[in-house]
This record gives sequence, C-alpha cells and structure tokens, in this order.
Amino acid sequence: MLSDDEIARRWGGVQQSVRRSTSAATVVAVTKTFPVEAWASVIRAGGHDVAENYAQELISKSEEFSRRYPGLERPRVHFIGRLQSNKVRILAGHVDVWQSVDREVLVDEIARRDPGAHVLVQVDPLGEADKGGCIPGQVPELIARARERGLVVDGLMVIGPTNGDPLLTRRAFERTVELADEFGLPVRSMGMSGDLDLALACGSTMVRVGSAIFGDRPPVR
Ligand SMILES: *Cc1c(COP(=O)(O)O)cnc(C)c1O
Repeated sequence: MLSDDEIARRWGGVQQSVRRSTSAATVVAVTKTFPVEAWASVIRAGGHDVAENYAQELISKSEEFSRRYPGLERPRVHFIGRLQSNKVRILAGHVDVWQSVDREVLVDEIARRDPGAHVLVQVDPLGEADKGGCIPGQVPELIARARERGLVVDGLMVIGPTNGDPLLTRRAFERTVELADEFGLPVRSMGMSGDLDLALACGSTMVRVGSAIFGDRPPVR
C-alpha cells in the first residue's frame, strides 16, 4: 500500500478536481482489496467516507478498525458491490449507506435487518446487465417500496459504461441526474477514477474513487 503521505497527496488531488468543478461532491474512497490501514489513511487525510464491494471484506475491516484504531473517527461505510440478499443480515450494523439497491428483495431485507437505513437506488440507464442496477422504469417502484418500509432514499447510484466511451458515459450520467431530479433526490453517486471529471461536469454529488487515491489494485479475485 502507498504511504499515508502519498495517499494524502492523491486525496488532495481528487478534492481539487471537485473544487474545480461546479458540483459540490462528497469524495468516497473505495478501499476494496486494500487493508484496513486504507480506512485510517482516509480519515487522517481528512476524509469521512469509505466504500467496499465484498461483504466479508467489509465486515473484517469494520471489526479490525474498531480494534486497532479506537481513537480515530470511524468512517461512514458505503456498500457499493453486487449485493446478495443473504448477505444483508451479516452486513447490518457495519454499513451506513447501502448504495447498490436494485431490486425489491434487497429493499425488503435491508428494511428488516437495518430499519431506517440510508439507501441509494442503483440504476442501469444503458441496459448493461452485468454490473447491476435497475432499468429506469423500475426506479419509481423501488423508491416507493423503500419509503413504505421506512428506508431513507438519499439518491441514485450509477456505474459508467465499461467501455468508457465518453458519449455513452455522458448519456448514462445525464439520464441518472434527470431521474434524480424527477424524484427530488439530492444524491447522485456517479464518477470513479476514470470518469471523475465527466461525472462532476454532469452534476455528480458523490464520487467513488479508488485507484486515483490508492494506486492500482491487485488483480480482481
Ligand atoms: C471499484 C469501484 C469504484 C472505484 O473504481 P476506481 O476506478 O478504482 O476509482 C467505484 N465504484 C464501484 C461500484 C466500484 O466497484
């Protein structure tokens, strides 16, 4: 892992990109595959938010963080990975924001295991089935169901297209903002290391940044 100083420098660079844009966006540091030290580095650099993709990894870091850094502010922990409903129970109590909610069974299970939780509905505006997200037509039902069951819907989350085509990416981001506006949702979680500036230009209020802060990740498991 990179040193605290290097992470703080890179963190500053991302913050600068946000300040240069017209959006006021929260930077969520994506720490998947990095050790718990990465959470501590984010807090020391002045951040408050971390995100994880894998249930077991998130739980281990959450427990380890409390043990190893009792004096440090605890980050707000976002779950951003593909979520299986049978993992919700073990994740509850460790997750502060459920970002990848894209179907009814998840709404129901989160409402049951983590009453009143904050959620984002993940949308897939371009119909790229492989990365999760609901089609735009399902967004109203999911929001309504989540609210009925007492969840707080902060906004929408989107992952830009895999091929990175800027025109398609822009279309996905603009459609997401349009939907968020339509339902009066303040949070638009969009933008990663590779499409950060475009997301900010399109009105992102929350960027999820991994490699630009922590360097390249080891190959995915
Ligand atoms: C891994 C991941 C990110 C961060 O990706 P980088 O390219 O490292 O910035 C953001 N969002 C999601 C959903 C991810 O899985």
